[in-house]
Amino acid sequence: MARFEGKVALVTGGGRGIGRAISLELASGGATVIVNYVSNSQTADEVVAAISAKGGQAAGMQADVSDAGQVAALFKSLRGEYGAIDVLVNNAGITRDKVIMMMKPEDFDIVQATNLRSCWLCCKEAARMMMRKRSGSIINVSSVVGIAGNGGQTNYAASKAGIIGLTKSLAKELAPRDVRVNAIAPGFVETDMTADLSDELKSAALEAIPLGRMGEPGDIAKAVAFLASADAAYITGQTLVVDGGMVM
Ligand code: NAP
Repeated sequence: MARFEGKVALVTGGGRGIGRAISLELASGGATVIVNYVSNSQTADEVVAAISAKGGQAAGMQADVSDAGQVAALFKSLRGEYGAIDVLVNNAGITRDKVIMMMKPEDFDIVQATNLRSCWLCCKEAARMMMRKRSGSIINVSSVVGIAGNGGQTNYAASKAGIIGLTKSLAKELAPRDVRVNAIAPGFVETDMTADLSDELKSAALEAIPLGRMGEPGDIAKAVAFLASADAAYITGQTLVVDGGMVM
């Protein structure tokens, strides 16, 4: 039997980049995947079509996960359609990089709302479902920047460090109900998010990666699928760094 047979997974920001790879990976393991997106319906539709073409089950659901009302509506739809979810991947995220002297409070706030508040909101809704079922796995996408810091990313690093604290705290709260909560900290992965970085910055990053290559979305997706699966049944509250050895 496929390892996610009969399971329902929600991937926030599941239509592009790392989220796309996670959606495809979980579906290839037999999960029914809900591909959340905020504005890019076309890429989400493409992921749903790719999953369906391989005989899998998937659906796109639009919601701005930084908004409490929209998250409540998203989970209401999920309850109506599927009863509950078994796997939540909090992947949606943005950057607004600037040195602190140039960064506006709005740049700070929108990054916290999109990366951290969204994670808390979705965790709260999913926790209710999973505690009732006494099973479930939540994977929050952090970043090595939340561990090591990075100039120009005070807002982003704060949100990603916050995700690690949230993950550990929630893991302690939910462990008695057999619900596991872990984080993934990707390194430098080639997606739209990193496409605009200067060649100079990219080659500096590459030099700092012992395995000598940038990450691919599939590298992160495989690690997420591991944490979501029964193979990780005794792992909770952890942050798995997937970065080619960049931060150790
Ligand atoms: P990406 O290609 O820019 O994709 C971002 C995704 O987030 C898109 O699917 C987008 O949806 C979604 N999203 C943004 N705001 C949202 C909102 N308010 N509500 C719902 N969805 C929203 O980024 P990525 O590189 O794949 O990054 C995915 C995650 O990995 C992020 O949390 C990021 O911080 C983290 N990460 C990335 C790297 C890297 O090097 N790429 C490294 C470490 C961590 P739409 O398609 O609708 O716009």
